[in-house]
Amino acid sequence: MALHLETPLLESRPLSQASGRAIWLKMDALQPPGSFKIRGIGAACEHHARSGKRRFISSSGGNAGIAVAYAGRRLSIPVSVFVPETTTERAKSLIRQEGAEVFVHGTSWQEANERALEAVDVETAFIHPFDDPILWTGHATIIDEVVKAAVPFDAVVLSVGGGGLLSGVAEGLARNGLQDIPLIAAETEGAASLAASVKAGRRVELPAITSIATSLGARKVCQRAFDITQTLPVDCVVVDDRAAVNACTRFLDDHRVVVEPACGAALAVAYAHADRLARFERILIVVCGGATASLAQLQAWQAS
Ligand SMILES: *Cc1c(COP(=O)(O)O)cnc(C)c1O
Repeated sequence: MALHLETPLLESRPLSQASGRAIWLKMDALQPPGSFKIRGIGAACEHHARSGKRRFISSSGGNAGIAVAYAGRRLSIPVSVFVPETTTERAKSLIRQEGAEVFVHGTSWQEANERALEAVDVETAFIHPFDDPILWTGHATIIDEVVKAAVPFDAVVLSVGGGGLLSGVAEGLARNGLQDIPLIAAETEGAASLAASVKAGRRVELPAITSIATSLGARKVCQRAFDITQTLPVDCVVVDDRAAVNACTRFLDDHRVVVEPACGAALAVAYAHADRLARFERILIVVCGGATASLAQLQAWQAS
């Protein structure tokens, strides 16, 4: 049995009314580790467990680290997560709550990641947060489930960090014969590495991440995600942090679920930028989730 759940698919009255079109929500915020990441990471961890690996290593202090920790616990395989000093107490405690060991090293993700890679040996699998074909195949199950539910849609809105979700959704569309359906790729200002690359016509690296949506904070998207923008209909929408946070709090009131600003970016397309959806009638939004934001944190961001 897969490590992820088949999540609810809801028609949202509040979002449909806010945007003036039918909005369907794929509720991956309800995955046990709090985000869609368990789909791909669960598939990767199961693959490595079958091929005899005895330990998993991650260098993500966010939802990817939490998903690896969850997968390890379910598969009875020990997990080590290497994070930089900037990682919040909440993130570390969510990882430890799943029984994984947290090692704090360095002031940036790069340093933590280097230490993580040094710790890899023949019995260990390093689980990348977004750049791995096994992950994409796992994330593609989002689209399989929507197709199985026989809910038609003419666009998909999703958030983009390193581009693993985008690559997986594109794979899911393709394997269901739906590759012509446009993707609306949402990012926040200060984390918009896909939009910058599309504009430049090549993969560019952002000098720094300045958005609060840390789960979108890959300075460079994976090659696959960029290639998808060159061959398939992908529209980039960049929202500001405030719109992303406001979308989270509105979504909490509308659907009673807390999500991170990384997910708020996608919701903000419907709440605040519905003009970008004018060509479509039935839109699927991937509610990708996020376990590291709390109500208090959302309120603090909103007040600032
Ligand atoms: C990881 C993550 C993203 C971005 O996914 P990528 O595969 O890195 O593009 C968006 N939202 C949430 C909540 C995430 O955890």
